[in-house]
Amino acid sequence: MKIVIPRMADGSVRLLVASFRAIGIEAEPTPPSDSRTLELGARYTSGDECFPAKVTIGDFMKVLEEPKNDPAEIMLLMPLADGPCRYGQYAPYLRSILDKHGYRQVRILSPNCDDGYADLGHLARPFMRTAWRAAVAGDILTKLLLMTRPYETTRGSTDEVYRQSVAKLAAVMEAAPLRPRDQLRTICKELRACRNRFQNIAMDRRERKPLIGIVGEIFCRMNPFSNQDTIRKLEEYGAEVWPAGFGEWVWYANTEELRLLKLRGQQWSLRFWTARLRCYIQRRDENSLLEPFLEDFRCRPDPHIEEILDAAQPYLPPDGAIGEMVLNVGTVPCLARRGIDGIIDIGPFTCMNSIVCEAIYPRISRDLGGLPVRSLYFDGMPVDLDMELGIFMEIARAYKRRESR
Ligand code: SF4
Repeated sequence: MKIVIPRMADGSVRLLVASFRAIGIEAEPTPPSDSRTLELGARYTSGDECFPAKVTIGDFMKVLEEPKNDPAEIMLLMPLADGPCRYGQYAPYLRSILDKHGYRQVRILSPNCDDGYADLGHLARPFMRTAWRAAVAGDILTKLLLMTRPYETTRGSTDEVYRQSVAKLAAVMEAAPLRPRDQLRTICKELRACRNRFQNIAMDRRERKPLIGIVGEIFCRMNPFSNQDTIRKLEEYGAEVWPAGFGEWVWYANTEELRLLKLRGQQWSLRFWTARLRCYIQRRDENSLLEPFLEDFRCRPDPHIEEILDAAQPYLPPDGAIGEMVLNVGTVPCLARRGIDGIIDIGPFTCMNSIVCEAIYPRISRDLGGLPVRSLYFDGMPVDLDMELGIFMEIARAYKRRESR
């Protein structure tokens, strides 16, 4: 049996693959997305679905069509989540597509907030802990990449170090002992080695570049194919980019789970205290993994979920609105406090979360002294990013000049 994982972000997906391999389950990411992805996505979906569904289903179908792959030996990873939008329908929808097109034997691994990875049986717990560590490590490597690449003096050197670091960390994670303490020690040691590699990259930091925050729908903002490599394009226009990480979503899901249990009067239930314990362990693991980077990330401290929800309160009260819209709206003021010069919200065309956020951004921008905030939508058709980002960066530069006076 082989688990096939959607390639949401190149580095993080390799570490997630390593988390499965660490518990003895074969896994691989979907192949890089391309025009065939869109062709198959369009063939197997109705056209009404969100763009991430089209990309994910197109990539899954590419895997199933490969003659070397036996569909009976494949399990597709498609997580489920509650929320205000269509995300919760992806897994049942994928099931119906597979059944309709002769792939009944293909299984779907569909973890959700209620049962985690219960399908993995006794391996669920070690997997979830390893996967969380992989998620935090993936965010750390992305941060190192984006804090370094805009200032490199030899083009391509940071990408090369990033590729090496992801490959080495994935190999170490696969082979690391599963005993939590030993595994953590092994991952931390390799992360330190990654840090050294990044520190050896030659950089020119004489000029601080405009700092642009990225928020938006998680798949579209993290998947370069879906967003036409917006981050790299922003860097070509002279920006340094600070995206919201994957961990942000996990902390939001944890906080929501606890809030809902309290709301239902279950604050003394086993489930509530299990969730509290999980949060405690996850926070402790996160702190341990971040510890070697405290100095490096001092000028880029990611906001904690409490700060984000607090900042969202005046615009979208988190106990009334739910989902990514709350995170996006709350993250903007938090990044503004940290000296950001502009925000890009990346969303799939027709994404409900992105549309709500776009309606609120003018008010947030006014409250933040005119901070430039721009929403970009993607649906697989080419967007003229040169024009969009060229103008946006001029506005961000003007804001930076004004703010630093
Ligand atoms: S977040 Fe947006 S793109 Fe994702 S499922 Fe919901 S509506 Fe669709």
